[in-house]
Parts: sequence; structure tokens; C-alpha cells
Amino acid sequence: MSRRLREVAHDIALQGVRLLLFYAREAARRGDYEYARRLVEHAWRIVEKLDVPTPRSLRRGVCERCGVPLIPGVTARFRLEPRGRRGSRLSVTCLICGWVWRLPYGVSKGEGGPQEAEGDRAAGAGGRDHREERAE
Ligand SMILES: [Zn+2]
Repeated sequence: MSRRLREVAHDIALQGVRLLLFYAREAARRGDYEYARRLVEHAWRIVEKLDVPTPRSLRRGVCERCGVPLIPGVTARFRLEPRGRRGSRLSVTCLICGWVWRLPYGVSKGEGGPQEAEGDRAAGAGGRDHREERAE
């Protein structure tokens, strides 16, 4: 693929991803989680196939465990957990499968650092969480 063609393909792919997420959220609001999940899966497939940078809405707006779009008050509970020296954390609980995602929130510079703030998909629900729990 030429560079230009690749850019166009990425553009179209990202539009498709956005649209799929839009419909996935609509489906989740209706309570049709199966359908929502399927749409999210399609979005992931597009991103992976074309190797486009993962859109924030897909990385942050979807439950990592069950794949349902996280909508505050509908499929997710967002709560701010004040913490002492490590700064506050935003905890996102998926109301469908119970998965909890904790993100540093307003961490002061030099502590914790941006790597931690970057709740990457690869870091997963596994190792990182355990480490945090032990530290407390
Ligand atoms: Zn979930």
C-alpha cells in the first residue's frame, strides 16, 4: 500500500471504529450487551488488522474483561478514590462483570509517573493490579 492510500484507509477505518462504538453504546443503553460486545469486537478487529493507533474511546471506554462499552450510570460506575501521597485514583467498575479499573487521577509530577497513568491494554487486569494491592 502506498503511503497515501494507507492514510486514507486509516481514516476510513477510524471512522468505522467510531461508528461501531457509537452503536455499541446505543445497544448497551438498551440493555443489549451481546450486540454491544459484538460491535466492540468488530472495532477491535479493524484496529488490529489495519494497525492503526487505538482510539482513546476504544482503549478507555470499553471494559477490558467483558468488552461492553463503559457508560457512567448504565454499565459502569465511576468513583473518585482520594488517596494520600499517591494522589487520587479514579476507579471504574464495570457493572456487567464487576471488573474494576483504577487509574491515577491528578497525580503530582514525578510520582507514579506517566507510565502508570497509561493504563495500557497489555498491562491488563493481571500483574499490575496485584502489585498495587500488595503495596497497600
Ligand atoms: Zn465488564
